[in-house]
Order: sequence, then structure tokens, then C-alpha cells
Amino acid sequence: MVRGLGRGVVDVIRGGERSISFEFFPPKDAAGAEQLWKAISDLEPYAPTFVSVTYGAGGSTRDTTVEITGRIARDTSMTPVAHLTCVGHTREELEAILDAYDDAGVRHLMALRGDPADGPRAEWTVTEGGLTYASELVDLAHRRGGFVVGVAAFSLGHPSAESLEADAHVLLAKQQAGAEFAVTDMVFAADDYAGLIERARAIGVDIPIVPGIMPILSLRQVSRMAELSGHPVPDAVRARLAPYEHDAAALRAAGVAMAAELCEELLAAGAPGLHFYTLNRSRATLEIFERLRISVP
Ligand code: FAD
Repeated sequence: MVRGLGRGVVDVIRGGERSISFEFFPPKDAAGAEQLWKAISDLEPYAPTFVSVTYGAGGSTRDTTVEITGRIARDTSMTPVAHLTCVGHTREELEAILDAYDDAGVRHLMALRGDPADGPRAEWTVTEGGLTYASELVDLAHRRGGFVVGVAAFSLGHPSAESLEADAHVLLAKQQAGAEFAVTDMVFAADDYAGLIERARAIGVDIPIVPGIMPILSLRQVSRMAELSGHPVPDAVRARLAPYEHDAAALRAAGVAMAAELCEELLAAGAPGLHFYTLNRSRATLEIFERLRISVP
């Protein structure tokens, strides 16, 4: 398993080694910031290929994303990937944020459209003077400073896509606009990821597509997140965890074991790496590493 120190994100992912990466979100307060930096320092020794920081729907956490990615670039050995969305921004504002990332030493970007306030299925209304699709942001980021750009991919298709084929064509459009890698939403089954790869490769998408992993530690929390992202937790996953519904510790252990199994299946299916949705905590990821025998290099 891989280590990305000193090498470009895309080189590592493409190089045939397996990548590990971690996703964080911008905290809302001082206690959240402490938890985030603890998770970052717990995970840094594993030399991830990159760590990404999400971009909020609005408000002050958006500035926090710029601040945190800049601090990761400056004060840690890791490569930050800053997320950016089109929600509520004009093209000029997006350009100013790209410049702020550049000034902060951030060279990698996840270019996303973002969601309307009512979720991914709700109708998208473009901000006046703004962008409609992530592919336009990919193009903007490329032209504005040569960022290395990643994009979102969806193991079961974006919930608002007309069909799985149309969804694959959206990924192709993002590649054609200059995206160099993709990261998927939470994957629940290796077959879903394999299906995405098959559809994408069949129409000429050749960028690396890294599956997203989030261990289920609480059924309620993951169900909510899955609903928000547009696809419910599959029945088979629920059925496996149902016996532990009233025993938090047992559910957690089963969730970690299932996630580790899924990681193994994904790697066996040819995934170029694993991207962990950490929720700003390190423990579950470290427990999965122990099961996968991933150690500090
Ligand atoms: P797009 O690729 O623009 O797709 C959006 C919709 O438009 C889809 O229905 C697509 O089919 C359609 N579409 C796209 N291009 C075309 C076209 N040319 N013609 C017709 N239809 C088209 N959200 C956040 O707010 N902040 C984050 O930090 C964040 N990080 C994410 C990270 C990952 C790895 C993933 C998987 C998602 C993330 N999201 C984040 C959620 C994401 O913003 C939503 O899923 C959003 O609904 C879609 O974003 P996108 O970049 O895929 O958009």
C-alpha cells in the first residue's frame, strides 16, 4: 500500500501503487477544530497520497476550508486537496477563491457542483453569473492557475442523472474538461464500484477512480447521510447490522469489520486506492488499517 510523500497525487494513483487518502470537513467551533487537528495528526504518519477538505453549503465554514487546506500545505507533510463548489458563487468569486487557494500553497482541487438546499434531487438553479456544471469549474480551475483537479463520481449514478449511461457521460465530460482523478461517494458494495468502472471505461473515461469508504458506526447517522446523498443504505447491509441495533459497541465493531471487508473486495476488484470519509475522527480508519494490516511506513 502506498505512500505518496513527495510525489504528485495523480502519479501515485496512476503508478500502480495503492493510494490511501482521507477526507475531513471544516469544523464549526474550537472543539471541532481540536478534534480535526487531532485526527489529522493521528493519520499523518500513514503518509496518505492526499487529504481533502470539503466545502460547505455556505457561511463561515467556506473560509475555514481555505484556512485549513493552507495550514495543511504549510505545516504538515501532506498534500491537501481543497474542495470547491459552484453553489451561490459567481465566476468572479470562484476565481478569487482559486487565487486564495493558490496563494495558500494549495495546488490540488476537487471541483464540484454542490447541491441545492433541498438535496441532490432538487432542481438546480444557477447563481446569476455563476456556473451550471462541475465540468465548467474543472475548466476554470485549469485555466486559472493549473490546478490538478479531481471530480466526483457516483457508484450508483448521481441521483438526478437520467440513466447510468448518462451519468458516465458526465464523468467523461469532466475528464475532457481536464479532471485527472475522481473520487466516489460512499460505496456500500464492491459490485457497485465495479459497475461504475465498467460503464466509465466503456466510453473512454481513463482517469483513476478512487472509491469512497465510510464505516457504518451508527445506522441512524449513515442512513441520514445516505438519504441526503440520494441512495439509501442497501437492505443487505442493514440486515447484517440489524442484530446489533441496540448494542452500540457491537454495531461499531461489525461496521468496522464490514468496511475492512469492503476495502479488500474493492482492491481485489482493481481499485487504485481507498478514500476514507473520516468525519474528522481517526479511530475507525485506524481500526480498519489494523484489519487490513496497513502500518506506518
Ligand atoms: P456535476 O458533475 O455538475 O453533476 C450535477 C448534475 O448535473 C448531475 O445530475 C449530472 O448528471 C448533471 N450534469 C452534469 N453535466 C451535465 C451536462 N453537461 N449536461 C447535462 N447534465 C449534466 N458537496 C459539497 O457541497 N461540498 C463538498 O465538498 C462536496 N464534496 C464531495 C466529494 C465527493 C467525492 C462527492 C462524490 C460528492 C461531494 N459533494 C460535495 C456532493 C456533490 O456536490 C453533489 O453530489 C452534487 O449533486 C453533484 O456534484 P458534481 O460535482 O458531481 O456535479
